[in-house]
Amino acid sequence: MRRLRRSLGRAVRRLLGALRVPVTYSYAINARRWPNGRCNVNLSGPTWPPEWQPVALSAVGEWNGVGARFSFVEDSTSRNSLGCLEMGSWGGRLAFTWTYPEAAGEVLVEAQTLVNAYYKWDPAHPAWLARDLSKTFNLGSMLRHEFGHFAGLGDQHQNSDSVMYAVMRSSVPGDSPKELNQDDRNGLFALYS
Ligand SMILES: [Zn+2]
Repeated sequence: MRRLRRSLGRAVRRLLGALRVPVTYSYAINARRWPNGRCNVNLSGPTWPPEWQPVALSAVGEWNGVGARFSFVEDSTSRNSLGCLEMGSWGGRLAFTWTYPEAAGEVLVEAQTLVNAYYKWDPAHPAWLARDLSKTFNLGSMLRHEFGHFAGLGDQHQNSDSVMYAVMRSSVPGDSPKELNQDDRNGLFALYS
């Protein structure tokens, strides 16, 4: 989860609202993107459990399957990587993705995701026992969200069915993992088309 950024999506929505036109999307972007629509990503960093690599691979595959002119490319030498550390309750943060540079319109050069092992994940971390056992969060849904940040999408706060919705639900019995929805796809197409 990132702090709210001013986004093109909101600016357009404000304009459409002023014109009383129905709003049909709510993705958040600020025109930051990877050169040539390609983001190398290291899924085997030193703090990322091998048991979680297939979950990460599946998440990048779903974004790659959207059909935009964007793809993640697995690269074990890339500085763009995933990590997992125990960060304490961290103000309720389950995970965080940094993307550089941060200014709107910039060409992205680096991204890092840190997953907080303080919380309980499904599948569970293979070595560490979570400290907060009150809820279980779906690792794949969270990674789909964080890889959206990798690609250049921001958190959005309107459409709770979107993977890029800022707040993650806990997994409860019968609650299926969140998949990319049309708003997520539209956001990627808006950046890379
Ligand atoms: Zn987020």
